[in-house]
Amino acid sequence: MRFIDMHCDTLMLSFIKKLDDIYEIPEAMLDIKRMEAAGAMAQFFAVFMPPRNETLDDVAYIEHCVGTFNTTMARHRDSIVPAGSGSDVEQNLDAGRMSAFLSFEDGRPIDGRLENLDRYYGRGFRLITLTWNGENCFGFPNSRDPDVMGRGLKPFGKDAVRRMNELGMVVDVSHLSDGGFWDVAEISRKPFVASHSNCRALSPHPRNLTDDMIRTLADKGGVAGLNFAPEFLNAGAEGGESTAELISAHARRMIDVGGSECVALGSDFDGTGGNMEIDRVEKMPLLFDRLRRDGLNIEVIEKIAWKNALRVLKDVMG
Ligand SMILES: [Zn+2]
Repeated sequence: MRFIDMHCDTLMLSFIKKLDDIYEIPEAMLDIKRMEAAGAMAQFFAVFMPPRNETLDDVAYIEHCVGTFNTTMARHRDSIVPAGSGSDVEQNLDAGRMSAFLSFEDGRPIDGRLENLDRYYGRGFRLITLTWNGENCFGFPNSRDPDVMGRGLKPFGKDAVRRMNELGMVVDVSHLSDGGFWDVAEISRKPFVASHSNCRALSPHPRNLTDDMIRTLADKGGVAGLNFAPEFLNAGAEGGESTAELISAHARRMIDVGGSECVALGSDFDGTGGNMEIDRVEKMPLLFDRLRRDGLNIEVIEKIAWKNALRVLKDVMG
């Protein structure tokens, strides 16, 4: 089964390990070589912005991550090539190649300037997770503090969503405050995504989506990417674990609430850990097997695996 994964943090791992190529990293949850073996169609590679600290220079960090991405693509162009649109993904597939997208996890490098959106678009970025777990120029993060959770986008964040729509950059509400979610839902003229978020009704974590949010995301033509991290599948559980069975439960809840068009994949590989059944990209087929055994037909499993995500990419980017 082909698949599109909307979120991994493997570029962060490349920074920590000072690697300039992510083709083969045996200790990583994902690398290009194993993606290929697993049947991947497209992968979003996040440039995750770690919390600010004195030793990390944002510019140097971004350059490392983008450099690693570009070097990998140049060296392994028979396997994987950068994509700028949904049509690119289809063309690359026809040519027997996987597709790679760059994204930001935390929009702080945009620094409150719309021209930075254009600049990073020009460098290949096609999705921004508007916030991580802190306030930035776009707005406020998910939080257990109802005051923070209720805060909407900042005026710049609203303008930035409109500009991202114009450019053809995917707006990602994972990690965002609930107030920010509802602002995006109101403002965005194109489908948007929660690239790596699960169901709050099954797992009461502020990173997850309420049923109302899932319904609205679906109405807007967007998708939520199933996150494999134990803490989002099983919040509050002692020694929580991540199993294909639990991921399937979240998928089926999303379908019950928002229909089969709103579910996709956002593994969070190399951004999470713990007790995980699907802890490496080559184990992705375990999820498709589980969905089948839980009664989903092949058409629906294909939608979750890649068709829904590809539809959104084409709607947003062409
Ligand atoms: Zn994340």
